[in-house]
Amino acid sequence: MPDINCRHCGEPWDIYELHDFPVSFKKAAAIFAKHGCGLFNAEDDPKSATHCTNTVFDANLAQASGVLQDSSPYPDDWLDSESMLNFLE
Ligand SMILES: [Zn+2]
Repeated sequence: MPDINCRHCGEPWDIYELHDFPVSFKKAAAIFAKHGCGLFNAEDDPKSATHCTNTVFDANLAQASGVLQDSSPYPDDWLDSESMLNFLE
């Protein structure tokens, strides 16, 4: 299952869930890159999403995801947080 990670807490999400919002995949991805899990707390109105405030699940994964999400607007490029982490270690 291809996962993308929240940049704030590191929580993994299935990339296909970005299709489940009442906005385009691209828009949902942009909101996820900014707010992480906050997107999933605003399913009916993604544009009202606020930053993820969850307990940190994995700070290193969160950091790696942030780097990936800043380097590309395409969620397909965000799938490698875990391998990037191995590279950084
Ligand atoms: Zn989160």
